[in-house]
Amino acid sequence: MIESLSRALFHRLAGSTTLKTLASRYGMRPRGFARRFIAGETLSDAITTATRLTDSGRRCTLNYLGESVTSLEAAREAAAAYEAIMRGVHDAGLSCQISVKLTQLGLVLNAPRCEENLRRVLDAAGDEYFVRIDMEQSGWVDPTLDIFERAWRDGYRNVGVVLQSYLHRAAADLTRLNDLPARIRLCKGAYREAAVVAYPAKADVDGSFLRLMRTLVETGSYPAFATHDPRMIAAVKTYADQRGLSADAFEFEMLFGVRRDLQTALLAEGYRVRVYLPFGHQWFQYFMRRLGERPANVLFVLRSLLHERRG
Ligand SMILES: Cc1cc2nc3c(=O)[nH]c(=O)nc-3n(C[C@H](O)[C@H](O)[C@H](O)COP(=O)(O)OP(=O)(O)OC[C@H]3O[C@@H](n4cnc5c(N)ncnc54)[C@H](O)[C@@H]3O)c2cc1C
Repeated sequence: MIESLSRALFHRLAGSTTLKTLASRYGMRPRGFARRFIAGETLSDAITTATRLTDSGRRCTLNYLGESVTSLEAAREAAAAYEAIMRGVHDAGLSCQISVKLTQLGLVLNAPRCEENLRRVLDAAGDEYFVRIDMEQSGWVDPTLDIFERAWRDGYRNVGVVLQSYLHRAAADLTRLNDLPARIRLCKGAYREAAVVAYPAKADVDGSFLRLMRTLVETGSYPAFATHDPRMIAAVKTYADQRGLSADAFEFEMLFGVRRDLQTALLAEGYRVRVYLPFGHQWFQYFMRRLGERPANVLFVLRSLLHERRG
């Protein structure tokens, strides 16, 4: 209940232009409050942070922030930006994955053009990069999976998708995708959804996560468990151990700036940990989703602002 109220509040606040202007002014300064969750606005910021994370034993997934673009030109530019990012990462001698959102590549405007943009990114990714298609609001799940499954049928193997355990449909999608066998990232789901499509109660979302996780451990293809929830993580470890899935046959994924202590502990135990590292100018919506997930983050932001003012 509290979770969905908090999500609803931050969803509304994400639409506030005053807040956006204020946040843009202060959030991305060198020690600005948004820097806790976002690498910065430029590729060079992202590469600096990715290098630091890699040196600490973490793997990285770079995400160039942006969603629901309003012109096909912007969608094409986003695809071109990903090509430039991959060149930059290569030149820096780093090894990263890439995460894209299809609404950033034009899905809302024109699905075939979005698909062309995605394939351009996949072609540029070649054998060097694995490209994960993030999952967005429930209305985009069908077109996203259609585009993914067509790419798979056409022979692309450098691409994977995401399933959200809060959706009632997730189990059926998993059965179909596992047959391919697609590489899946499992998460709980970050958007505000109606009860007809998603479980409103955290206990049900968690229960669904555990069921899907067990299927992925049994039959998945290098699954990724994207959660900061210690209960889910403990369950993955126990079940993987029971089923004899070795620690290099799956990975844990967490968001940049969230539960760094847990990331370190998992690495020390020999698990693979990948950090989702977003960067770019369009950081406000992403940032507000992170606050909505955990209102305690608001205190963190307020404290940072106070420090800045004192400084
Ligand atoms: C790598 C990665 C990729 C993702 N990709 C997608 C995607 O494609 N589509 C999608 O809908 N969602 C995505 N998500 C978001 C995900 O769906 C959840 O909204 C988010 O991870 C919070 O859920 P949780 O599993 O961490 O557990 P929760 O039950 O929300 O939280 C459990 C505990 O984790 C910690 N925690 C959780 N969130 C935060 C936070 N923001 N700040 C600080 N602590 C926190 C707290 O200790 C909390 O008590 C992704 C998440 C990760 C980690």
